[in-house]
Amino acid sequence: MRDSERAGPDRFGRWMRDLRISVTDRCNFRCRYCMPREVFGADHAFLDRAELLTFEEITRLVRAFSRQGVRKIRLTGGEPLLRRQLEKLVAMLTGVDGIDDVALTTNASLLAAKAQPLRDAGLSRVTVSLDSLDQDRFARISDTRVPLAEVLRGIAAADQVGLTPIKVNTVVKRGMNDGADILELAEFGREHGYVVRFIEYMDVGTTNGWRMSDVVPAREIVERLHAAWPVAPVDPDYPGEVAQRYRYLDGRGEVGIIASVTEPFCRTCTRARLSAQGELFTCLFAARGHDLRALVRGEVDDAELERRIEAIWGRRTDRYSELRTAETTNRPKVEMSYIGG
Ligand code: SAM
Ligand code: SF4
Ligand code: SF4
Repeated sequence: MRDSERAGPDRFGRWMRDLRISVTDRCNFRCRYCMPREVFGADHAFLDRAELLTFEEITRLVRAFSRQGVRKIRLTGGEPLLRRQLEKLVAMLTGVDGIDDVALTTNASLLAAKAQPLRDAGLSRVTVSLDSLDQDRFARISDTRVPLAEVLRGIAAADQVGLTPIKVNTVVKRGMNDGADILELAEFGREHGYVVRFIEYMDVGTTNGWRMSDVVPAREIVERLHAAWPVAPVDPDYPGEVAQRYRYLDGRGEVGIIASVTEPFCRTCTRARLSAQGELFTCLFAARGHDLRALVRGEVDDAELERRIEAIWGRRTDRYSELRTAETTNRPKVEMSYIGG
């Protein structure tokens, strides 16, 4: 598709390229930095099934997004593998014209059984979130009874069926996993050929009690890695890649750093997000989304649907991370488990 045939860029000249789709707001983990149990406990009102977009509705929206320039889809949540028969959705999305990549972000607790069906459906890769290789710390951080061994089994299954290159996302938080975990996880990546990406802890949502002093700056993480196994920067794979890439000088693969807080990348942010109930968010830190479910469940035809999406993107001025201050942190913001990472 030529640029002249698709929607325009936003107010800062950024084109829409990637769409992250949350398929559920539920999760079987309660990571303290994402869904603390005090807030997301037994009393929490999760979405009813009827409120979730159906696979058909998601696919129709993805067709509209692809005509507006979206090329990559990432399925996320909550925990996306809690959504039944997710592989069916994957097959539907890989069939959409213009979509050349459908990936998944998961905590991997249910991945062992799902890796092969997902691969058969056309999923290209998985990113697994894992913050420690120590069973006790893993359990404390993720606040789950799922054993770490089950997550490791899921990762191995994904590797075996070719959902590669496997990326492992690790949120680093001061006092949580900034000790032995960083080098242990890096070593795990080096051994198995996985790309571990260390992510600065962010002030997403309003429930995790974020403080700037909890952020372990990317530079500190790179220094720790470099001291253990010297690394050198690598050019980004594509414009707008969020992770800064480094290669190990001994040839044992790559490692990434996502410096969302200390070195924000709003300038090249091409990501749109669709919540499980069909709201379009143009920034991870937005307070409100735009209701597309009412449109797909209403009388609106495809051309009108596309015009609405184009108009929303065209008005976009988001650059939260560039403007972050102690004061913005307290603003109302959507929860990450609701719109996906
Ligand atoms: N449940 C799936 C998982 O954990 O991979 C998908 C959804 S989860 C919200 C997506 C990503 O967001 C995960 O990699 C998680 O580590 C990241 N995340 C959640 N809260 C975060 C925070 N406060 N700061 C940085 N990353 C965060
Ligand atoms: Fe669940 Fe993922 Fe959030 Fe952890 S980061 S609570 S696994 S949605
Ligand atoms: Fe994109 Fe918003 Fe994150 Fe900036 S803060 S990189 S605009 S999602």
